Amino acid sequence: MDEKRYYEEKEETKQMQLVCPHCRQENAYPVRWMVRTKRTQLPGGANEQDRENFKKARSYMVRIDNLLACRNIKCRKRFDLTGQTVFLI
Ligand SMILES: [Zn+2]
Repeated sequence: MDEKRYYEEKEETKQMQLVCPHCRQENAYPVRWMVRTKRTQLPGGANEQDRENFKKARSYMVRIDNLLACRNIKCRKRFDLTGQTVFLI
């Protein structure tokens, strides 16, 4: 079974304060995350391995966006998002 089936998936946008590495200006950017919330029960068709994995599974979120465009109109350069891309929730 695909591990994705252990979770309810939902896309969320969070505002993050980020500093552009080119012009050093700080702005709030909308960053998209895929939130995977562990289901209360395994879906049908699970085998022994799935039950084992499901027990260990934790809800988490993964960052979708990796690249942003600077909001400073005099800069407008693209920059990579750094830092953690996966968070347990
Ligand atoms: Zn910039």
